[in-house]
Amino acid sequence: MRIRILLGRRSRVGDGRPFLSPIPVSVRTAVLSPGFAETDWVHVFADGWSREVEELEPELLAAPLLELRRVAARAAERRIALPSLGYAVVAFTGAGQPVLADRDRDFFWRVFQVPLFEQFLSPTGQTLAAECDAHQGLHILPGHAGFTGFPGIIDTARCACGQPGARIVVPLNAAAPRPQVMAAAAGD
Ligand SMILES: [Zn+2]
Repeated sequence: MRIRILLGRRSRVGDGRPFLSPIPVSVRTAVLSPGFAETDWVHVFADGWSREVEELEPELLAAPLLELRRVAARAAERRIALPSLGYAVVAFTGAGQPVLADRDRDFFWRVFQVPLFEQFLSPTGQTLAAECDAHQGLHILPGHAGFTGFPGIIDTARCACGQPGARIVVPLNAAAPRPQVMAAAAGD
């Protein structure tokens, strides 16, 4: 006998791509984007922010950049509360989408008061590159070095975090609208 308790908002447990947590411990995680696999710790809210997210009391929140901006703006106006958020926020970015700007980082820090990690997703939602806790760019995950839409300069020098491999080094001031930074980099 089965009792339906999921109303379609969440994906089924085990379905989807794994969410790559930026922190090494398991914490209550809300991912406001479809296509990620649910686990004991990772809860997926395909439709974005809702009261259910607030009720989950997530310790880590991950969302597409635009959704994270909306959540932050509402939190700044005290229309929603996230006092449980004790570990991190993750902003998903992608090719052809808005760039995570310094002003976003400042705003998210003021509102959420936890470290921010950027993760760059493919058009199909695969995690291609992820920011480490040294915050020195986004490490390109194995198998994805051939992707051509990365929004920055590729640096192969060893990262301060100790991880080898190529990183996307996003220019310090990404606030200017410049979707193809790589082409403009030579001019400095
Ligand atoms: Zn690193």
